[in-house]
Amino acid sequence: MLNISFTIESVKEGLKKGDFSAEEIFKHYYKKIEKENKELNAYLSIFENCKLKIENSAAMPLSGVPCAVKDNILIDGTICTAGSKILENYVSAYDATVISKLKMSGVTFLGKTNMDEFAMGSSTENSAFGPSKNPHDVSRVPGGSSGGSAAAVAADLCVFALGSDTGGSIRQPASFCGVVGLKPTYGRVSRHGLIALASSLDQIGSFTKKVYDSATVLSVIVGKDVFDSTTIDLNVPDFTKGLDGIIKGLKVGVPKEYFGKGLDPEVKIKVESAISKLKSLGAEIIDISLPHSEYALAAYYIILPSEVSANLARLDGIRYGHSSTHAKDLFEVYAKSRGEGFGQETKRRIMLGAFALSSGYYDAYYLKAQKVRALIKKDFDDAFLKVDVIVGPTAPTTAFKIGEKAEDPVSMYLSDIYTVPVNLAGLPAISIPCGSVRIENKDLPVGFQIIGKPFDEATILKTAYSLEQSLNPQ
Ligand code: GLN
Repeated sequence: MLNISFTIESVKEGLKKGDFSAEEIFKHYYKKIEKENKELNAYLSIFENCKLKIENSAAMPLSGVPCAVKDNILIDGTICTAGSKILENYVSAYDATVISKLKMSGVTFLGKTNMDEFAMGSSTENSAFGPSKNPHDVSRVPGGSSGGSAAAVAADLCVFALGSDTGGSIRQPASFCGVVGLKPTYGRVSRHGLIALASSLDQIGSFTKKVYDSATVLSVIVGKDVFDSTTIDLNVPDFTKGLDGIIKGLKVGVPKEYFGKGLDPEVKIKVESAISKLKSLGAEIIDISLPHSEYALAAYYIILPSEVSANLARLDGIRYGHSSTHAKDLFEVYAKSRGEGFGQETKRRIMLGAFALSSGYYDAYYLKAQKVRALIKKDFDDAFLKVDVIVGPTAPTTAFKIGEKAEDPVSMYLSDIYTVPVNLAGLPAISIPCGSVRIENKDLPVGFQIIGKPFDEATILKTAYSLEQSLNPQ
């Protein structure tokens, strides 16, 4: 009786009733991955013998629940590639804080998932190990950069997965794959043990099949961490407690800038119908404006490459990662190791960032982008004086074809237009499925984004839960 799609709740229920053991459910997923991963390429590595002890104590919140982890989050003693050739053989020397927390909560780890190199991309096509496929249509991308995690959850190759979101890398693939993706507030979840992309934007979050599971995982991974000084010391609530389906009187802001040029008309229809649902549940819909939205991508694509050029400087062929065997002197070790190890998009961003930070250009590019970032944050602050949450599409389109945008970086970057502002402002946001569009005989999911005030994950989860219940009545 193991061929159904499991949620955290149903695994816990099954274990409790004795329908299966933790070992059986782990093996069920292991076999499924062995069979189906060849086509989807969602996993880069799988943990054969469940190296990590299988716990079956009902007292633990995620006891025996099999999960997948994006391959930029360290699990002690296992390979962590970040989707790059340069780290192809890199073995993690410690556990990321989120991994220690998951271990303490009793999960079992199935393996590490595919991603765009160092999490730069929106399709997984920048992975050094080939793209993942979208389970809804294998000729299409699953989104990115956490595309492997999204595909693994959508295809039921795990119960839930971790990802990272720097400019949309959890929410956009969740939208393309029809699953729930949560990016917590910057500072809510420790980044210790996450291979840094852009440290002022990065945040770890989850992919789940249901909103309730999203709240469960968040309750486990949040908290102040001495290893990440940007984490905030707030009390750690049980986020499942507020999921009561009641949103009467909730003030929902709809920014006009998220419904303009570039938004696919069919995606727009689905998103608008989800907004009507919220209204019918008693929410008050309020038109708002986030006037600096149109500058968000331009600011992001200065700030992110700048931080990338600094963060990736540590990959020098000396301390860890690929080291060129054809180098004649120290300079060549640096140049050749990096030249051989990094892919095209990574090189592009390192060069853009080094340029933006260089003397004479710093004020014109980096400083200006930081000023724009402050204006974007202020837009949200002003809006949140009037509303409790802000909603709109997660991405302007449904999943595109593999290869469709690979040669055109700007059209790829446009896919992040509604997700990037949230990272620039450090806010929490969730993407949940709100229907699908039929294209070439396939149903392609549409994502609905709910953005919250800083550290108010409780309200976005509550809103998402109510909408999920009303869109898919049990
Ligand atoms: N697609 C965005 C980029 O390429 C987002 C990346 C991310 O969130 N990790 O930078």
